[in-house]
This record gives sequence, structure tokens and C-alpha cells, in this order.
Amino acid sequence: MLTTMAILSMSMINQVSTDHLKATLTELTHYPTRNTSSPGLTKAAEWVASEFRKIPGLQVEIMEYAVKAGRRVPADKTVVQVIAVLPGETDRRVLVGGHLDTINLGGDPLTSNAPGINDDGSGVALTLEGARVLAQKKWHNTLVFVAFSGEEQGLFGSAALAARAKAEKWNLEAVLSNDTVGSSRAGDVKDNRRVRLYSEELPPLKRGEVGVEHNSRELARFIEWNSRGKLGGFTPWLVFRKDRFQRGGDHTPFNNVGFTAVRFVEAIEWLEHQHTEKDTIDWIDFNYLSNVTKMNILTMEALGDAGEAPTAVAYDPKQAHDTSIHWKAKAGVKYVVYWRETNSPTWQGSVNVGEVDKAVVKGKNKDDHIFAVGAEGGIPVSAG
Ligand SMILES: [Zn+2]
Repeated sequence: MLTTMAILSMSMINQVSTDHLKATLTELTHYPTRNTSSPGLTKAAEWVASEFRKIPGLQVEIMEYAVKAGRRVPADKTVVQVIAVLPGETDRRVLVGGHLDTINLGGDPLTSNAPGINDDGSGVALTLEGARVLAQKKWHNTLVFVAFSGEEQGLFGSAALAARAKAEKWNLEAVLSNDTVGSSRAGDVKDNRRVRLYSEELPPLKRGEVGVEHNSRELARFIEWNSRGKLGGFTPWLVFRKDRFQRGGDHTPFNNVGFTAVRFVEAIEWLEHQHTEKDTIDWIDFNYLSNVTKMNILTMEALGDAGEAPTAVAYDPKQAHDTSIHWKAKAGVKYVVYWRETNSPTWQGSVNVGEVDKAVVKGKNKDDHIFAVGAEGGIPVSAG
């Protein structure tokens, strides 16, 4: 069995460069606004695409879509966002992204200064650096890197891509949206040890229904499990909500059409800077941004090499203090069984069981524990 040290040395997270993150954000300071309706957005998108094109193996596309005149859009317009695909051996896809567009809510949308270095230059810098690091290897699954636009106007870019992914029947297994992940403080209030990770709440239950959590919650729980102990005490702070109070992000359009999507956002937002000319590079904590980047890379590495998830994960109905569990296995896939007490938000234990379709976990009772089975490195599927 691999030791933790061996797993750590296999990860590419040590290649994350704060100089690269800084260079991306410095470049983005040259666009006074990247408002979705402004020429700055198009120019910035061309720059991001050119950076992706420097990375061997990436297939880069500038995707066009239409936005309609509305609350934050002065006129109908065709706008762009950037998609880079690193093809794997399978068409199963894992997506990471941030939004390139910015807004200044206090002034004219086309001309007001809207640097948006943290919201969400930080997510774009993370995405570019993730692509640079991860493209050095051929992955089992296909990795997708996106610089969204239209976020500040109403999640238009992510909605356009989610609709396209649905229409083109993308085998999209996970979406990691990173929005405002570059600062660890607001004034004197600081938290540089955690990044909030939002996952969608349970749908309302009908009478007689048993609650099965949304798969995005399973993804969030997996991100915590997979990064535990690997980032020097830096952790995801799981928030079991779709997003912050009355606010939203690019994960939600994917959730809305049935994909599994979560959102990272810094622990302490400097709210007075957001959507103003004050969202500048001066407030970025590059060590913090580097830690969030590493957490995303750890997740992409795991999901990028994972086999297909098991189906029909079920308990043996017999009453017992040990728990017997079985599932439909796929040829050549190794599995892991996880468990947690019902009041624990995170997995408490796991055992690698290999290429089998059933297992017994001794001394853990299904009466008071929740069990799940996942392919090694994949999102676990809770037993029903
Ligand atoms: Zn944002």
C-alpha cells in the first residue's frame, strides 16, 4: 500500500508557482475593465487563449454566445469566453474554471474602472496555472479549463456552456468553480487557513421520501477527504449551501441542468472592495491563492485518473454489527469503501478493497453509519 509520503511525492502540487499566479494577475491589471460588454473582455480573452496555446496538448477554443440587453447589459451582443481541453483516454470530463469578466457597480459598465483582480482574476490565474501544471501528464480522463464571461451580468457564460455540455452530451463528471479565491482578509479580519467550498443543499423531500444528498455534496466531501493532510493545514471549509446569501456563481447553471458542481470562495471576503475600483492586486495573498490552486490540482489529479463510479451501491439487508455492502463493478476498476457516522459531515474512514464488487467492514454498523463506494480517486456513491 502507498504511504502518504509516496502519494504526496506523486502529486504535482509542488510545481504551482506564485510567480506564474502573479504574472497572470499583473497582466490583468492592464485591462481597466473586463466588463462582458466591453472591448477589454475580448482582448483579455484573446490573451488568456494565447497563454493556453503555449501549453502543449491543450485544444483551445474561443467560444461565442449571445447575451441579450438587460439589467446589466446595455445592448444585445455576441461575447466570448475561453475553453481549453486536455484530451484524456476517456471522454469523461472534469472541469475547472474562473470568470474573466469584471464589473464596477458604481459607474458606467463600459468605461468605469473595474480591475476585478480578486473577483475573479484570481480564479482565472488558478485555472491557467492548473492547466500549466496538469498538462505535463497524460490523464485517464479529459480535463477542461475555462475562463468564463458574463458572470457578473447573470451567469450567462456558464449557463451557455452548461447548456452546450448538455446538448452535446458531455460526460461531465465534476465542475470546480473558483470565484474570488485570492485574498485572506478584510481589514484586520483574517483567515488564511481555509477556503469555503459551497455545495448545493438537499432538494426538498416529498412525504415518504428518503433523503439522498445532491451529488455536489458528495464531490465537496471528496475534495475534503482527498486533500486532508496534504496542504500543511490548509483545508476546505465545507458549506452545505448552494452559495452565499442572495448571491451566486458559475457552478449553479451546471447544477441546474443536472451536473455535479461546487464553488470555492475565500473564507473572508473584503466586501467593500468587490465590484469597485478597489479590487486591485495590492490585496492578493499569493500564498493563499497558491493553496487554493493546489487544492484544485489535487482534486483534478484524483478525478483525472479515476475509473468509472460504481452503480447500484447497496447494503446487505441482514441485521449485523459488521456492514456488508455490494455494488455493480466495472472491469479493471479498483474500489474504496468509505464510512462516517450519520452526524459527521466528512468521511471518517476508508478501506481500499481492489477489483471486487462487495466488501464487509468489521465493527461498523449501517444502523449508525453512512457508507459509500467509489472508484479509487473518484467521487464516492453513497449506499441506498
Ligand atoms: Zn465573481
